[in-house]
Amino acid sequence: MTDRPDGRRTFHWRMEQPHSTYLVSVVIGEFSRLHDSWQGVPIDSYVPRALADRAPRAYGRTADAMDFLSRATGRPYPYAKYSQAAVYGFMWEGMENISATTETVDTLRDARAALDGTSDDLVVHELAHQWFGDLVTCRSWAHAWLNEGMATYFEALYQQHLARQGGAAGDDELAWKLDQSRVSYLREDRERYRRPLVTSRYVSPIRMFDAHTYDKGAWVLHMLHELVGEEGWWRGVRTYLARHAFGTVTSRDLESAFEDATGVDLGALFDQFVYRAGYPEIKLRWDFQAATGLVRLEVRQTQPLDGATGLFSFPVEVALLDGRGTPSLRRVAMAALPQQDLYLPCPVRPRTVVFDPGGALLKSLDFDKPAAEWVEQLRAPLPLPAQLDALRALAELGGDEAVAALGETLLHHRFFGARLVAAAALARIDTEPALQALRQGAGDADARVRAAVLTGFGAFPEQRELIAPLVRALEGDASYQARAAAAGSLGQFQDRRQEVTPPLLRALAQSSFLEAVPRAAIKALAELGAPEALPQALRLARYGSPQPGRADAMLALAILAGHGGHGGDDARRRTVRRTLEDYLDDPDFEVRLKVPEALAELGDPAAIPALRRSLRAEVQDEQRRPREEALRELQQQTAANPPSSQAQDERLRQLQRTNEVLEEQLRELREERAAGPAAASTLASGSAHSSGSGAAAASTTDGPDQAPVPVHIQIPPGRSAATVEVAFPGDSRSGGQASSSGAPGQVRRPLPAAAPAPTVAERRFVLTARSGQTMRIELHAPIENPGLVLSLLCPGDGHTGIGRHGALQGSVALPESGDYTILIRKTGSAPMPPATLQVELAGAPNRIAARPYTGTYFRPGGSRASIDVREMLGGTPAGGAGGAAAPATPEAMVGQTGREASKAVPGATGGAGAAAGTAGEAGARLAFSIAASEGALVSPDSLGPGTAHGTVTLRGGAGVYERAGCRLTLRFGRPGTGELHVDQAGDCGFGNAVTAGGDYRRTSLCAAPADAP
Ligand SMILES: [Zn+2]
Repeated sequence: MTDRPDGRRTFHWRMEQPHSTYLVSVVIGEFSRLHDSWQGVPIDSYVPRALADRAPRAYGRTADAMDFLSRATGRPYPYAKYSQAAVYGFMWEGMENISATTETVDTLRDARAALDGTSDDLVVHELAHQWFGDLVTCRSWAHAWLNEGMATYFEALYQQHLARQGGAAGDDELAWKLDQSRVSYLREDRERYRRPLVTSRYVSPIRMFDAHTYDKGAWVLHMLHELVGEEGWWRGVRTYLARHAFGTVTSRDLESAFEDATGVDLGALFDQFVYRAGYPEIKLRWDFQAATGLVRLEVRQTQPLDGATGLFSFPVEVALLDGRGTPSLRRVAMAALPQQDLYLPCPVRPRTVVFDPGGALLKSLDFDKPAAEWVEQLRAPLPLPAQLDALRALAELGGDEAVAALGETLLHHRFFGARLVAAAALARIDTEPALQALRQGAGDADARVRAAVLTGFGAFPEQRELIAPLVRALEGDASYQARAAAAGSLGQFQDRRQEVTPPLLRALAQSSFLEAVPRAAIKALAELGAPEALPQALRLARYGSPQPGRADAMLALAILAGHGGHGGDDARRRTVRRTLEDYLDDPDFEVRLKVPEALAELGDPAAIPALRRSLRAEVQDEQRRPREEALRELQQQTAANPPSSQAQDERLRQLQRTNEVLEEQLRELREERAAGPAAASTLASGSAHSSGSGAAAASTTDGPDQAPVPVHIQIPPGRSAATVEVAFPGDSRSGGQASSSGAPGQVRRPLPAAAPAPTVAERRFVLTARSGQTMRIELHAPIENPGLVLSLLCPGDGHTGIGRHGALQGSVALPESGDYTILIRKTGSAPMPPATLQVELAGAPNRIAARPYTGTYFRPGGSRASIDVREMLGGTPAGGAGGAAAPATPEAMVGQTGREASKAVPGATGGAGAAAGTAGEAGARLAFSIAASEGALVSPDSLGPGTAHGTVTLRGGAGVYERAGCRLTLRFGRPGTGELHVDQAGDCGFGNAVTAGGDYRRTSLCAAPADAP
């Protein structure tokens, strides 16, 4: 670091070791530092100053973890220092940037949150990446599991290490972590998709970071560990690191390092679990053949077989419990067969047979045995996985024997995970004795078990006496998770809604880590359909409410809208849909991620166009995926439940009514315009009053023959928001409201002269803002249905997306700098007291504002051709820096071939003002794709028939794509207009379905026509 004379400082950092570029990061901010070290390596943890007291709780074990990893891998921590920085607004839990991990501040627990969990997993995961991911890096994302599986598996190994430090064996801790990974992977496989662990078929790299990569990845390593044994495992790890340090690896490299280190053939393990998909789904039965003294164990593999998933061969242990309940272990080799019968010698009939008691195989298990045998298995001195299998089987079987054994486990098992699963099992059995057993666990010392018990109470909503203990827990338990669990269960007491609503409403005000308690309470209130919940959910969902709870509040809104039966409350449903649609471009990354889920939960197909628009405008794949999934779900719902003809009739009637009103308003507007300047000045009369905190009013007087003068809103220094009053004084009509008299369909229109007051009045407010900022607007009208419509217009009057539905609020990330106009229209003659307009401007450091020309362009009428335009960052083709062309005769670069084509663009007249140019944009390289239908534009990687794509370099607002016999000129309009004119000369080979030439309009921000497809 060097201090410079001008007061600035320059920091230098030299990274001595080779590493991959995606691991480079710089974190800048005001932090408080927690310093530690391990064998001379500085370990610094940076947290926001306000959270300094939480740093030791989160990061206190880092040095111990570094010691563990260095010893276990035989390779001391490889870099000069290690740091962790907890930052706000981080979209992931952690990122293993080289020697400088970045993490979310959400890992900084307060003292009470420490009852519910620790940061150990995150700390160890990211630290383990310094070896597995940074020192040795997967060669491509196809092999991402080499990074993530290893880091996830080391979370489990570290838990085992910690338990061993405490004098325990640590096997429970290891098994529990693996159990959680197994549950997570099996859920993704069943509910979402199945893929091979290694695959290069992915839409975008981020989609590789799923439960397959993390959880199945960890399991493959665990199976490898079991296969080669403890010593072989660590020898393999060391060989792998020694061979590939500071290099890149594929899955084959891991396989051969372990094979060479141990001599064990790993072909079957890798072929079945890494290169192919799925897992063995095992069904079992056993009987005892007394005459021969043999146990026959029938093993069937029932997984559906296809090109990706086959039959599995694997070694496995089987335990036979003798007369005293003592297990004896046999190791058997299973072949890749649909059914295999094993015969195991046994002098007397065993009490039961246990398959894979140690949980060494990734599988699903369906063992057909009576409850009594599962109870034997549960009570035998077997490892935790065998006991978890028994607990889950007993949950399915039920009965007195099961309840007794589960109750005993809940009360007395040494390990919290087993107690927790026992509590869930008792809730699932759902009988009076099961409840009595479950209640015994309510005082468990471990908050996680108490939370499971309280969650279990939700399965008994007919038991009124549970309400009191649930409310006591909601208001008195030390653990936030236990309180949240109590709230969730209270939400199940439908028949006692009156009784449980007040404590849940109170819980909305509780302060808790990451808003855990209010989040659970608002969802519970929504489940109950409590009418008081709607305004609360709207409030908690709003931009500015605590971020961790906003997505839950949105989900609550969707659930609430579903209450009240079919068509019971269309208005509420519509309000919720529009509110949620507005949040599709919320400034908060995590909120945007969750909105589609809430829209899918709402199940209103009317949200499909908004989701489609949002999907088209979204460039980040992690945001595209939830949008795609919500669209798929809504489309499936629509296909499954086509609207009834009665509902369609009702919808048609509504549309007809809306149409009548709109025609009426249109006629009024036309007449007012036809009446000339006098009437227009009447329309403009009445000043917009500006007042309130920090709003400086500009001229509010309207001349007799000019348009209403917009009011400039100025936000004072140091503030981000301003409030102004919106008044429509003197516009109550003295009669002649057409629709109020006359026969229907024969509307009598008063003459303009007889109608001095307008039925439509508008106010304009102007706010200057910068590209990349976020603007939030809210118009509070003192009366309901005030007939107000709010729109936010971009510089140049393009539309921002706010107000398209007539909503009175919204927020948007601004795509360009300039004057934004807030347009407020009042229709109808009813008088209205002054309304308040609140505006807020915030910086949005995590968002890149859309470039003036990027987005999807549609042909406004007729054919369905569309053009998707993206900027290719960092790409200027050879020679691109030259050629300072005059805007009228732009030079063109042919991006794909690098050939230079210096030609005048044909058809330079007409089109959208090339002369205006896009100053400062010269040289931007654009990728475009043209499609015959919007469906083909789902992803640039999936170009369908009738599509074509290419790149152009923009000069003065125009780009030329050229190849043999074809020239395509893309001419963008003035920024903000969203216009694009395309000239096509020759055949560009786009297929008959697309005629590329013509005028286009962009649907994204600042240009969207209200009726964009
Ligand atoms: Zn990771």
